[in-house]
Amino acid sequence: MGLAEHTSRVVAQFDFSDEELNRHVDEFLKQANAGLKQDGTSLSQIPSYVTAVPNGTEKGIYLAVDLGGTNFRVCSVSLNGDSTFNLVYNKVAIPKNLMVAKTARDLFAFLAKQIELFLREHHRDHFESAAHRRSTMSFPEGYRDEQIFRLGFTFSFPVQQLGINKGKLIRWTKGFDIPDAVGKDVCKLLQDEIDRLGLPVKVAALVNDTVGTLMARSYTSAGKHRSLLGAIFGTGTNGAYIEKTASITKPIPGEYDKSTGEMVINTEWGSFDNELNVLPSTVWDQTLDRESVNPGIQMYEKRVSGMFLGEIVRLAINDMMKDDEASLFRDTNSSYNDWSTTTNVSPQSGLLSQWGLDTAVLSVAAADNTPELSTIRQELENTLQVYTPSLEDAQAFKAVAGAVVRRAARLAAVAIGAIVLQSGKLDDPEEELIDIGVDGSLVEHYPFFRDMIYEALRAIEGIGPSGADKIRIGIAKDGSGVGAALIALIAQKMEKPGDFLADLRR
Ligand code: BGC
Repeated sequence: MGLAEHTSRVVAQFDFSDEELNRHVDEFLKQANAGLKQDGTSLSQIPSYVTAVPNGTEKGIYLAVDLGGTNFRVCSVSLNGDSTFNLVYNKVAIPKNLMVAKTARDLFAFLAKQIELFLREHHRDHFESAAHRRSTMSFPEGYRDEQIFRLGFTFSFPVQQLGINKGKLIRWTKGFDIPDAVGKDVCKLLQDEIDRLGLPVKVAALVNDTVGTLMARSYTSAGKHRSLLGAIFGTGTNGAYIEKTASITKPIPGEYDKSTGEMVINTEWGSFDNELNVLPSTVWDQTLDRESVNPGIQMYEKRVSGMFLGEIVRLAINDMMKDDEASLFRDTNSSYNDWSTTTNVSPQSGLLSQWGLDTAVLSVAAADNTPELSTIRQELENTLQVYTPSLEDAQAFKAVAGAVVRRAARLAAVAIGAIVLQSGKLDDPEEELIDIGVDGSLVEHYPFFRDMIYEALRAIEGIGPSGADKIRIGIAKDGSGVGAALIALIAQKMEKPGDFLADLRR
C-alpha cells in the first residue's frame, strides 16, 4: 500500500457522516436537558446568575482579567455607552510550573501581582492616590468606594457558580492541574491575594469566557439583535446561551434577579458525552486521552478544540511514519538517517514529542493551496525539522490535518445546532435572525472553519438549508475583556438593589 492509499485510510477514520451528525445532535439535546434537571451530569449546564444581556448603552471603567489558557490578560475597559469601548491590556504567558503548581496560592499570587503591575503602568494616578490615602488606614476602609475598581474575573474552567462573584472550581481543564484549588471559591482566592498586595480592586463578578463572549456580542450589536449563544473554539471549547429559568428545574442556590425569566447558562459542553455514547473514537483519540492529565473528561473538547487537534494529527502522523509501507518522510539522503534508518525527521522534531505539533501549523496546511505545497513543506522543514519533505509527504500531512479539523468543525456544529433547536427560535416567525457570537483561535484563524460549521448545520434535521440561513455566526472580539467588564457593571448595580436592570434590555 502506497502513501496515498495509506493516507486515505487514515483520513477515512475521521469521516463524520450526516447520519452521525444527527445522532450526535439528539444525544446533545438529551444530555443538555439532563443537565438542566440535576447536577453531576456530563453537561454541567451551570447557571451564571446573569439574567439579562446588555444593549450597548452601558458606561464606565472596569477592570477585567482573564485566566483560561496559555496567557493571563489584565485589562481595563472603558464602556462608552454607544456600543463602543476602549480597551488597554497587558498579557503574560502563564509559567508552565504554575499551571501545575503545588498550591492555589502560588498561581493566584502571580495573578494578583500582574494586576498590580498593570495598575502601576496604566492607572498610575488612580493607583497612587488611592495607595496614598490608604497608607494611613487599613484595607478596605482606606479606600473610598469610588476609588475601588470593580473587576470582572474571567475564569474559563468549570465552576459551580454560587453567586455573581462566587464559585467553586469543579475541575481543571486544558492542561492545568492544581488539585489544591479544586472545590475552593476562585474569587476568594484572587481577592485574598489582591488584598495581600493592598490593591484598590474588588472582584465583583466571576465570568466564564463564553458568558463574556455572549455579553460582548450583545453590547456591540447595539441591541439590534440579541445574541442567543456565545461560544469559544480556541484552546478549549464551550458555549453559554440564554435559557428560560422555568426550564432550569435543578435548584439555583442564592439570590438572582427573577424579573426577566431568563438566565445565561454555561453549558460546559467540553464534557459532552464523556461516556462516549456517540462520540467517534479513533486509536489516536484514545491515546491522546490516556496520556492527558484528565483521562475520561472533556471528551468532546478533546476532539474539537485547538489544544488537542494538533496532538491528534501528530499521533496519526507518527503511526504513519513508523509504517514502512506508508513511507512518509523517507528521504534516503537525509542526514537524520544517522539517527533513524527509517525517517528523515530530526530527533528534536515536535512531531516526536507530546503536544509538539501546534494547532497553528494545521491552519498553515489548510491555507496552502499552491501546486507544490511549498508553504507546508517549508513549515515542515523549519518548524518541525523534517528534512526536505516531498510533495507527497506534504499532501499526506495536509490531508490528515484537514480531516481532523473537518471532523472538529462538524462536531462544533453539533453543539451549535442543538442549542439553536433547544431555543425554539427557528419556529418563531418573529425571529428573523439567530445571532451567535464566537471567539477563539480556530474560528478566527483556521481557514473555512465557519464554512464547515455552516455546511454541517444545513445537514441537521430541523435546521436544514433555510434554518442555517437564519443563523448568523459572528466573531465577538475581546469577549473576555468587554464581557467581564459588562458583568462587573451588572454586579455593581446589584450591590444597590432597586435600580438594577432598569436600563438593561430584556
Ligand atoms: C473550560 C470552559 C471554557 C472553555 C473555553 C474549557 O476547557 O472548561 O470553562 O469556557 O474551555 O475556554
